[in-house]
Amino acid sequence: MVTVTQLREFIRYAWERAPAVRAQLNSVGMTPEDFKNLDDLVKIPVLPKKKLMELQRDHPPFGGWNAVSVGEMQRIFTSPGPIYDPQGAGEDFWRWAPALREAGFGPGDLVLNTFSYHLTPAGFMFDSALRSLECVVIPAGVGNVEIQVEMMKSLGATGFTGVPSFLMALIKKAEEKGYQFREEFNLRKAFVTAEKLPETMRTHLAQDYGIEVFQGYGTADAGCIAYECTERKGMHVGKEVVVEIVNPDTGDPVPPGETGEVVVTLLNKTYPLVRFGTGDLASLLTGSCPCGKETPRLSGIFGRVDEAVKVRGLFVHAQQIKKIFDDFPEIKRYQGRVNRSGYRDELELWVEPAQTDTFNSGLVARIKDRAREILRLRVLVRQVAPGTIKEESVLIDRRKWD
Ligand SMILES: [Zn+2]
Repeated sequence: MVTVTQLREFIRYAWERAPAVRAQLNSVGMTPEDFKNLDDLVKIPVLPKKKLMELQRDHPPFGGWNAVSVGEMQRIFTSPGPIYDPQGAGEDFWRWAPALREAGFGPGDLVLNTFSYHLTPAGFMFDSALRSLECVVIPAGVGNVEIQVEMMKSLGATGFTGVPSFLMALIKKAEEKGYQFREEFNLRKAFVTAEKLPETMRTHLAQDYGIEVFQGYGTADAGCIAYECTERKGMHVGKEVVVEIVNPDTGDPVPPGETGEVVVTLLNKTYPLVRFGTGDLASLLTGSCPCGKETPRLSGIFGRVDEAVKVRGLFVHAQQIKKIFDDFPEIKRYQGRVNRSGYRDELELWVEPAQTDTFNSGLVARIKDRAREILRLRVLVRQVAPGTIKEESVLIDRRKWD
């Protein structure tokens, strides 16, 4: 975990070299000496992604956030925005190696890296991390599913990095070609990010194909932010990163366990982002991890801030509603409905049980408990007749504002 001394040293470094960091501190009258404890970070305004984009446009290429000159960098990428992303010195610049090591990747592994190598940084992010762990990389990139399947098989690839849906697509293609995936392929480990990994898919991949899947969270701008340990219950915040969960309207941290925007401070010598607002929605898990690591854990990423609705001041995202019902196979269909009752917001969960006789007060209580755990909200649960839930969306906002 980052200490206050490390943070102050880093802020001083960035303040001296990156004009944008200096301006960010100046805007609230702060200097590096004002960092007496970690909470002092909160006094610095959050840098939203949109503002980073504008600053880059006005002061190309990096908007003044780079602490080294362009000539000292390894590569420059672009991500949607457009935003330019630098790769500075070092063999694992984006810090994914510890995440991959935790997922079991190591010397001699032959890994199919299916992230794109073109323009965006993801391909090189994982390539460099895998190489630093002495894995052999097949730089597969996106597409060419058929060729990738043949390479995986004939080379005996042992690992996969990419998005989970692409791993499924490769397996399906192998099966279409008449291969027995589990018997004829050596692929047994996968690291995925950048896309939702449903727990049902993780179980399916483990049970039916013998593939252990780990996931991480990062962005093109920041690299690795958090990743799963062997417990696979939440993602530990990575090294050189300070994560805050904040109210996006004010930039203030929310109470522990509540949902808010992920804001990261990156102790990076090339690209020192201070309080960068990712626009992603998550919460921090309370309590310690059985693995023994002391670093804070992210619950998982629920989605984008601008897709969420606010209920009694708390963010609720459709993915959170899905997460509640992951644990209830006895519920066939469900939908979260936000209503206004007097001056109060209500979140009502409509549920259609698979069999009506399984629905009882014990089940309702368990759903309410799980909802409370995930949303930090008291919810109402209502059983509805089969076929009542019409809309596809699992979360709808029915409030009328006059
Ligand atoms: Zn852990």
